[in-house]
Amino acid sequence: MSLTNDVVRTPIEPRTVAFGTVEATVDYSQLRALGRDKYPAYFNSTFRLLTADDTEIWPHIAEFREEDRTWLAHAVFLYGKNLRALPRDFDHAGAMARLMRRASVRTAMPGAQNDAFEREALRAGGWVSTVVVKALTPPGQDLAARLNLIYNPPGSDKGEDGTAKVGVLRKDVLAKELIPELVAVVDEQLAHWVRPRGVPQEMESIHHLQLIADFLQKYVALRLRPYADAWENGPYFDGFRYSERLQSTWELPNQHPNRLNWLLNRAQAIGWDKQRGALLAKADYDGTRPGDSETLHVLLDELLSTDALLSKKVGTLVKLTGAHTGGEGKISIQPIFPSPSWGTKADWRWRLIRTLVHELMHRLAHPAFTAKAKEIRHGQIIGEGFVDLLATDVYIQLCRDVTEVRSGVEILLHGLDATVTPDPSFLKVGYGEAGASATAVRDLVGDDRVRAAFFLGATHLIGLPLT
Ligand SMILES: [Zn+2]
Repeated sequence: MSLTNDVVRTPIEPRTVAFGTVEATVDYSQLRALGRDKYPAYFNSTFRLLTADDTEIWPHIAEFREEDRTWLAHAVFLYGKNLRALPRDFDHAGAMARLMRRASVRTAMPGAQNDAFEREALRAGGWVSTVVVKALTPPGQDLAARLNLIYNPPGSDKGEDGTAKVGVLRKDVLAKELIPELVAVVDEQLAHWVRPRGVPQEMESIHHLQLIADFLQKYVALRLRPYADAWENGPYFDGFRYSERLQSTWELPNQHPNRLNWLLNRAQAIGWDKQRGALLAKADYDGTRPGDSETLHVLLDELLSTDALLSKKVGTLVKLTGAHTGGEGKISIQPIFPSPSWGTKADWRWRLIRTLVHELMHRLAHPAFTAKAKEIRHGQIIGEGFVDLLATDVYIQLCRDVTEVRSGVEILLHGLDATVTPDPSFLKVGYGEAGASATAVRDLVGDDRVRAAFFLGATHLIGLPLT
């Protein structure tokens, strides 16, 4: 035997490994007592016990490399030891298949420091994501009703009993109030990029941002454990590497449909903003009524088609707006520094790092979570609010962690003024009303439920029943 455990007898056994609110028991002594010549019988009988399937699994495993087989033997043993925490209807055959796939691309062997092996094996098999979700209780009826009011805010109409209700869409509010507001925002945003005469454009280092991106991918897993990296089919297991997905926003197409998309996205952000008069609520806009989104779509389409100058401005902004949708799984970030009137280059780098965290959160959001946007009136709470809420959690923690170690700031701000600290506004949840609503949900249900919903798709925990 060549396992670290057998040589140094550490880490101790039995012991427990915690995954947030749940614990797993670790003790391989019985497996070690089993000679390797017993492996065929061990794998076959374990598989039969788990799946009630008489297929012999050993012939598949016999093909494995020695080390991979050692990894798998321990992973299966650990899984078996912690079986009781799983729900009755759990798909054990699926878990076995995932563990077998993982064996050859594993990152930690049994006996590795900091329980790295146990963390990898129990996540890869699907044990962690299932058990941490099972440990959380969904909100009761009263709480669910309060949450529903946040996801489906009342409109400006009054029902017979005097309570607010959503009336018929008021197109005039969209046309006469929301659109002028939107046009003003386009100019505001563009002004940040217009450089004074004679001031040359300065490029940001995409290469350096790629280094930061890979750092962030690891950092988020660590800081938002056990949720961010627990989904067995998610980005931490499907080969996703943030740096490889990063591209310049200049690579984004900026044709009419892209410009229209940009405007629609802004219309949502501005339209629900209470400080701008909550114009979408005022218009009795309901994102779940196909007619409403269609009307907004048509209005903005007409606006762009009839105002060539505005369309050109929006085209410029498309190429200067961080995005997570341009191309297959690509995340786009601005390749240049804004005008000096916006702020210093170090300020901008802090801002870009925040954007990098935000875009990473989009990539880490579970598809079942993202799909809920279409089922609620204020879909942007799901589409952007929670994304920015979690991005802010990470960013605040990151700023705390790196500013404690000066070299940390120097690495992040590489070549820029490392004495600059992030602007306080970056530490606040953005996306207006969508961000405020996500925060309100978190205040009601707590961090664990929000994270389990966001990263693991357990949306019933935040009052959005699974479909
Ligand atoms: Zn976003």
